[in-house]
Amino acid sequence: MSADIRTGIDRRTLLATAASGGVAAAAGGPVLAQAPLTPPARPAAPPPASAAAAATAVGDSRDIILRISREVWSTPELSLAEVKSSAIHIRELTAAGFQIVSTGTSGTPTAFIAEWGQGKGGPVIGYLPEYDALPGLGNAAEPRQTPAPAGATVGHGCGHNMLGAGCTGAAVALKRMMERAGTAGTIRVYGCAAEEAEGVKVYMVRDGLFNDVDAALAWHPAPVAGTGLIRTSASNKAKVMFHGRTAHAGNSPWDGRSALKAAELFAHGVNLMREHILPSARIHYIYENAGVAPNIVPDFAQMWIVIRDVDRDKVSAMTDWVRQIADGAAMATQTRAEFDLFFGMHDLLPNDALVPLVHRHMATVPLDWTADEQAFARTCQKAMKLPETGMATSLLPPLGDLTAGASTDVGDVSYVTPVGIFGWPTLPLGVSLHTWAVTACAGMSIGDKGSLNTARILAGVGFDLMTDAALRQAAKESLQRRRGDRPFVSPIPKSRTRPLGLPPHLVKTSDDELVAPLPAAQGASSK
Ligand SMILES: [Zn+2]
Repeated sequence: MSADIRTGIDRRTLLATAASGGVAAAAGGPVLAQAPLTPPARPAAPPPASAAAAATAVGDSRDIILRISREVWSTPELSLAEVKSSAIHIRELTAAGFQIVSTGTSGTPTAFIAEWGQGKGGPVIGYLPEYDALPGLGNAAEPRQTPAPAGATVGHGCGHNMLGAGCTGAAVALKRMMERAGTAGTIRVYGCAAEEAEGVKVYMVRDGLFNDVDAALAWHPAPVAGTGLIRTSASNKAKVMFHGRTAHAGNSPWDGRSALKAAELFAHGVNLMREHILPSARIHYIYENAGVAPNIVPDFAQMWIVIRDVDRDKVSAMTDWVRQIADGAAMATQTRAEFDLFFGMHDLLPNDALVPLVHRHMATVPLDWTADEQAFARTCQKAMKLPETGMATSLLPPLGDLTAGASTDVGDVSYVTPVGIFGWPTLPLGVSLHTWAVTACAGMSIGDKGSLNTARILAGVGFDLMTDAALRQAAKESLQRRRGDRPFVSPIPKSRTRPLGLPPHLVKTSDDELVAPLPAAQGASSK
């Protein structure tokens, strides 16, 4: 692979930096870290010409953006069940003049595609709103761990209410900008369901729904404001099942063959494998089914394993090895192994042309917090036994090449179209994503500012992409350079038409899955 990929050694350097005053965002989305890899000594670039118009257009769209951010926060729904949350986005986009061209997109009932365009021959720019929440992270908009309104145990602990509001809000604002300037082009909003589980973007890319897109834009909540040449890990998710033979564990254990013993041996094999994999690799698993009672020899056991590394090739090689370990464990215990590789993601390819532009737009948006907001953040930090440093107040310099351990389904998008992405502060410094404090901040004025300010950045970058052919070309060339000549092969098995974890009551019939075919949807399930 290319020399830009950093391994565990660099990550250690990075973590040391974080410990000595730098800041690192937590996993769950793109990780942003303050890395001294890029000299920050360059003079500041001038603000992009479109920034002022973006600020005006977002000001005009303020009510829409805040409705999405607050309503989705108040209606937290788990991945693949975001029925009300996706409806909120669809309602606002429809009211703003977008056409809903697809619902139940790519086998996922809560995914959608909306579109607006004018003129002829213009580019297609995509936005990637997410709106799923997480279990166990329901919290009131208060700076302490306390039950959510109506006792909701699900909560926006990854801040996707703001992520979605910023992206959809940017689309609405960009439409205003294009109408005012008479710009030709198409804005496409991909309703990105289930990012926390089996992200629909991977299915959408497999189905060719990004093939005609000139660039896609997104952001993610973070403790810091930053962007850079950041990769996330490629990953595979598999269910490993063992089938044995049950028996009375006291009377006649010799008649049984324990599926749990096979699972234990499998886990042992995976752990022995760790010595011989790269430091950049990650393997984690849970036991989902390990029998029902100790006096019954379990005839079934199930594990869920996640395998990650810096690119698909390395993940595929490790997955083959793990599959062999499952077969070996079954052979040794006279059971049968079943290996269901049900989901995977590509690493995220950063875009050399879009990083500086995104950074210039970020620099036009002030990180101003009220005394109350800083006090809120410090109270959260105190409750979490973290240094009481409040919210980030400055933009990090563009970050150098690094690979984060976490994965995102934006990775697959980044292999077929240039992606601009950044992190923006919506949580106190030092706080990890996927915690109650993220939910708390996302439901008050800190979250409102996150949604509005990121919409501004995304609308401005979107307008520049709409109007600058050289920029689009440079972004395309960066993608080609980083991808090289490797063919795109979707990690999703061909046989899988919808996510494994789809709640049965949400499975729809095939004829309402795509309202109108997109021009990109023909052929090219892989390229
Ligand atoms: Zn997230």
